[in-house]
Parts: sequence; C-alpha cells; structure tokens
Amino acid sequence: MGPTVQQETVTHHGAPVVSDAPPTGNSSKRAPPPTRSQPPFPPPPPGSLAAAAATSPAAGMDCCRHVNPFRACSGLRGLGYLMVALVVAIAAVSYYAVVVYAWGPVLLAGGAAAAGAAAVLAAFHVVLAMILWCYFMVVFTDPGSVPENWRHDAEDSGDPSFSSSEEQGSAPRYCSRCQNGKPPRCHHCSVCNRCVLKMDHHCIWVVNCVGARNYKYFLLFLVYAFVETVLDTLVLLPNFIEFFQDDSKRSSSPGDIAILFIAFVLNLAFALSLLCFIGMHMSLVTSNTTSIEVYERKKAVSWKYDLGWRRNLEQVFGTKKLFWFVPLYSTEDLHNIPALRGLEFPTRPDAIV
Ligand SMILES: [Zn+2]
Ligand SMILES: [Zn+2]
Repeated sequence: MGPTVQQETVTHHGAPVVSDAPPTGNSSKRAPPPTRSQPPFPPPPPGSLAAAAATSPAAGMDCCRHVNPFRACSGLRGLGYLMVALVVAIAAVSYYAVVVYAWGPVLLAGGAAAAGAAAVLAAFHVVLAMILWCYFMVVFTDPGSVPENWRHDAEDSGDPSFSSSEEQGSAPRYCSRCQNGKPPRCHHCSVCNRCVLKMDHHCIWVVNCVGARNYKYFLLFLVYAFVETVLDTLVLLPNFIEFFQDDSKRSSSPGDIAILFIAFVLNLAFALSLLCFIGMHMSLVTSNTTSIEVYERKKAVSWKYDLGWRRNLEQVFGTKKLFWFVPLYSTEDLHNIPALRGLEFPTRPDAIV
C-alpha cells in the first residue's frame, strides 16, 4: 500500500483551498512511495473523515485538485511583499492624517483642547506599537514545523485523551512532499513548501503561514488593527465633517485634503472588514477549529477538539490572562498546553464523528 497522499494548499483568510497532487480515486496513479524507510501509511478507509476531506468541496474541489493555481503561482510570496508595502502605505497615510494634519497642530496650539489631543495621540501610538509588535511576531515566528522523521509516537502512549492522528482510529497520515509523518491538524502549504502544524491558512498579508505557534499573535494583530482603524475613523470624523461644512477648511492644500479623505475612507473600510474577520475567527477559536477544519467540523456530530469555549480559548491564548493581550506565552503555559507546541491535541472522549 502506498502512503496516504493528501496535500493541501491553504491560503487566503478563511478560504482554504486544497490541492491534492494526485487524484485519490485510482491507487495505481498515486505517487510512488517515498524512498526513505518508514512504516506503511495506508490510504484512509472509505467513508473516513480523511477520505471525505480528500473529496469534500472545502477540502478539495475537483478542479483545484487537478489544476493547482498556487503551484503555478510561485509569485504568491512576491504578492505578499506587495501587500506588506500596501499596509505600510496605508499606515503612513493614516499616521499623517491623524498625527500631522488633524491632532498634532491641536496639541502644539496648547489650551484646553491640547489635553484631548494628547490623549488621542497617546492612544494612537500605544495601539500602533501593539500592532507592530504583533505583526512582527506573526511574520517572524515559525508557525510550527514537523520534526524530522516524526512518527505518531503519541499513539503508542495509549493516552486516549490525545488525538495523535488526523482522526482517532484511522491510519497515520504521511506527506509525500516532505517525506515525513503528518501530526494531527497539520497540513502541507504549497506556498511555504512544507508542512505546518495546526495550519490555519497561508496569509499573504504577513508573508507567512498561520499555524499552532503564531495563531494567537495573528488574532491579536487583527484585534489591535481593528482598534486602531476604529480610533482613526473616530478621530478623523470631526475633520471630515468640518471639511464639508466649513468652506474655510477647503483652503487646506489639495494634498492634505486627499490624504484626509483617503485615510478616513480606508480606515472605515478596514474597520468593517476586520470586524467581520475577527467575528469569524472568534467563532473558530471558541469551537477549537481551524479555517481548514470548518467542513470537517460541520460533518461531525460533535467536534472532537471542542473542549468547551473556555478551554478552547486557553488552547490558543494560554491560561495566564495577563498574557492574553500581548504576543507572548508564559513558560508554564508552553509547558502545560501541548496544543501550543502543535504536535498533539486533547480531544473530548465523547466525540462522535
Ligand atoms: Zn508536507
Ligand atoms: Zn504557507
């Protein structure tokens, strides 16, 4: 029997796209077994979740399986750098509009209004610092690599409270591209060209995969970006209204007016988009599901990783509430919560799939 060959490409926020290399229907057309010595990895039994995942609409539409758009699109990483440049440009426009154009002059003018301007500018800079901190943590933190020659050792431990393969009771999975075992919830990213632990999606905005070890940082980045865009929208609103009401304001240079207008509209648009995106991810976090697993969870009678919303939150944010708001984990949490390491995950004993 050949190995279970199931490879996914996941990209775009909340829109996983799976691109199985070979079709799964005909075993004779499967890729040849890897040359490295390893135990046999039989294909998933018919009707199993793994088999279903290989044929599900979310996990792999036929067209995507035969024609992988991302395999041909090695420039996706380059597109990511373009997106980063776009974010920097938006941040620069917002900074100019809020600090240089709208509130900086109020602060410098002194008087009663200066205290309010100082509060606005302080909040703006604190949230901006948090955004940058979270952003760089998402970009530079390894989302989770599979150790070389990883095997499903946890299965040998006999601990039924941990899921050590993609589905309890099924065959271990194997990645023919990495030529390595695949831990539960691990998926192969064709953009990064490697398997990623508890992969959520490949995010072109951060030029990195979002997985077990940087998902919390990604969520915090979204939340702080939302707070900042809402703040920008609110503090630019008086200037925006004033511009349409007061003719004297139109004496501002056309460049300033354009920047004010662009900053206000972009921040409003981003705030609304981020709100939807945060809502979607909060729903995933509280049910302990990744973007890739949404379809699998819908099929399950009770989702095996769902430990109750409080424990589900702790599986991503840790147990120390002080650390919930910063892109860090306590040493204790890293030691005590296996999900943060990404190789094994507690499951509910009464799960029905
Ligand atoms: Zn792989
Ligand atoms: Zn990736």
